[in-house]
Amino acid sequence: MKHNRQSKYYKTEGIVLKGMPLGDRDRLISLYTQDYGRVRLVARGIRKISSKLSGHLDTFNRVVVSISSRSSIDSISGGEVVETFKELKTDLKITARAFYIVELIDDFVADGSVNEELYSLLLTTLRELDLLARSISVGSQRVTMEEDVELLMRFFELNLLIDSGYAPELSMCVVCNQPLSTEGNGYSVEMGGLVGQTCYLQTKAVQPISVAAIKCLRFLSGAKIRVAQKLRINPVLMSEIQMILQKFTMNINERKISARQLIDSINTISEGKQ
Ligand SMILES: [Zn+2]
Repeated sequence: MKHNRQSKYYKTEGIVLKGMPLGDRDRLISLYTQDYGRVRLVARGIRKISSKLSGHLDTFNRVVVSISSRSSIDSISGGEVVETFKELKTDLKITARAFYIVELIDDFVADGSVNEELYSLLLTTLRELDLLARSISVGSQRVTMEEDVELLMRFFELNLLIDSGYAPELSMCVVCNQPLSTEGNGYSVEMGGLVGQTCYLQTKAVQPISVAAIKCLRFLSGAKIRVAQKLRINPVLMSEIQMILQKFTMNINERKISARQLIDSINTISEGKQ
């Protein structure tokens, strides 16, 4: 049952995206929840050795927390860990990827905006990373390890765009809305997807994209994670789709930042008039 966030206490499940020191004893936690989207919460006294919450609210942990909303900012009154993703924290390269994922989520989502698909994508990706880290630590012969991790990253980036409502257009030309050419297509980050050969030659700021990269992106956009992981991509193709997906995600973030700056400056102006 969902709890009413207006009530003084509520309980919810979430994944810790970030924790920042607040004063000498407290920590400000950015928690991504299934029921309320991202919430920012104060964990009071968490930096004292005696704190019961200490260690519970580490980044990546999936937790159930009790929240008190009596003051202007909600605070955590109690909590327990449900899942720690212990393995992914043991491998530095995998930990770095996990940080990248939670940071992207933190950048993409707005406070209080509920998105169950995105929550599920985050949880699944962390679980898969944890499994991949486990396969390193038991020393099983997985020569494709690095490739598996990179493929998971691409799956995450593309589905982050899709689940957030910024799916790149992969089937039609974004300029003329006609089917794409067999070869010689391009893409435009600003226009949000692929550009057919004819329009490519006539439009500014369109970058080339290979036939294989288009097929790969289409496959990753419709696949379940386990099916997606069966895909084998050579390093050149991997770099190509990595670059493309990073451009798309960065573009969305820049737009968000400029939108935020606009809102801030409007607020400043209207405050000045009062
Ligand atoms: Zn076109």
